[in-house]
Amino acid sequence: MRIKKLLLAIATLTLVSATPVKHQFTAAEQQQISISTPGLFNRSDAFSIDLGLLKPNEYSFPLPVGKATMRKNDVVQIDTKDGDNVKAMFDGTVRLARKHQDMGYVIVIRHRNGLETVYANNAENMVEVGQHVRAGQTIAIVGHRDGKFYCDFSIMIDGKRINPAAVFSINSHRLHRHTLLCEKHSSYINVSTVGEKVDLDENPNFTTEDVFEKKQTYKWNLEKMKKGSWAYPLPGAKVISPYGGKRRHSGVDLKTKPNDEIVAAFDGVVTRSNSHYGYGLCIVVKHANGLETLYSHQSKNLVKVGDKVKAGQVIGLTGRTGRATTEHLHFETVFKGRRFNPNLIFDHNSRQLQKSTLTLTKNGGITSKRN
Ligand SMILES: [Zn+2]
Repeated sequence: MRIKKLLLAIATLTLVSATPVKHQFTAAEQQQISISTPGLFNRSDAFSIDLGLLKPNEYSFPLPVGKATMRKNDVVQIDTKDGDNVKAMFDGTVRLARKHQDMGYVIVIRHRNGLETVYANNAENMVEVGQHVRAGQTIAIVGHRDGKFYCDFSIMIDGKRINPAAVFSINSHRLHRHTLLCEKHSSYINVSTVGEKVDLDENPNFTTEDVFEKKQTYKWNLEKMKKGSWAYPLPGAKVISPYGGKRRHSGVDLKTKPNDEIVAAFDGVVTRSNSHYGYGLCIVVKHANGLETLYSHQSKNLVKVGDKVKAGQVIGLTGRTGRATTEHLHFETVFKGRRFNPNLIFDHNSRQLQKSTLTLTKNGGITSKRN
């Protein structure tokens, strides 16, 4: 009798290992996006998630090249282009995968750490309920609405949305390597962070992680920069003094008219906004991967240190403060602390990005090649 049971157990084990385990979800769990997670708060009204323990391959942003924007109700809209793949954020099991009358195709993945991730407005779902998925695995094709391609992404605990900025940086897409303390209240889940203090506004300009953490060189194809992700720093300007030359000019001088609007060349964080020797009123903006841009001689600076700026955002007005004989913008491009010719980035005649690819190296080298 005992042997029979044992044999049966072995047979079952063999079966289990031969076919992938499909997790069972109730009909309600497969239908309702917002539903409590059984057993999550059984033992305690609080639990913690140490995001710092995740290995790099255990986290993926749903649309790695997309642009995330915080919407109402803790939903992040991630804009991207047609045909892009939506990827699972963490390892987990698909709890819901169906068409929703308002949200298009929706997927909900339940993760072992207690989080659930929701991917809505898909054109097509590529996974089914009960399927185990890995972080970074394609789960859907991005859908479109009102002429835009995007995924509406949110994170839930026990069926209630939490602020996704507690988990990752909206701007850099990076996972915050801290511990989340999740406490159950009657109508909401309170999420606070413990351990290493992380500034949720860190690296607002970085649309990708700092590539030099992993690689020695990084190829930046300027032609692939999306509209709106860059701007010519002084629209309509002409060059009155180029970079370099006999006087070893550290930047390029661009002129339009006094008190004209100077705009940020790329998304970034303001790291300097003050009067700085011969520069006069000066602004430095730090961008992704060690690139900085400098704007000087302003009559007025309109941003302060720590401000996050968007490409094309007005940051100052042209003037002649510092060592300047006429109202103009002295514009510098700096990589890893070293100035380089802004011509590598901008064609000043067309005021467009160059049709070239820059190779940036970890130790500050920068070379350009025409596409
Ligand atoms: Zn100059």
